[in-house]
Amino acid sequence: MASAPNDTVFDEFLSQRGHETASVGWQQNYNKLQCPECMGLHDTDATECSVCGWTPRTV
Ligand SMILES: [Zn+2]
Repeated sequence: MASAPNDTVFDEFLSQRGHETASVGWQQNYNKLQCPECMGLHDTDATECSVCGWTPRTV
């Protein structure tokens, strides 16, 4: 049971999430900034997402 297909899928999901969060920032959507977490749109001077509280990680 330990080698169930779902385990592999879940591991890949975690590794993908980890890769994304390594250097995550605002997504550009026309002249707006888009939150990668909730897809909320904000002005270009936004420093955090007012919808879900997400903040960009600038390394
Ligand atoms: Zn958000």
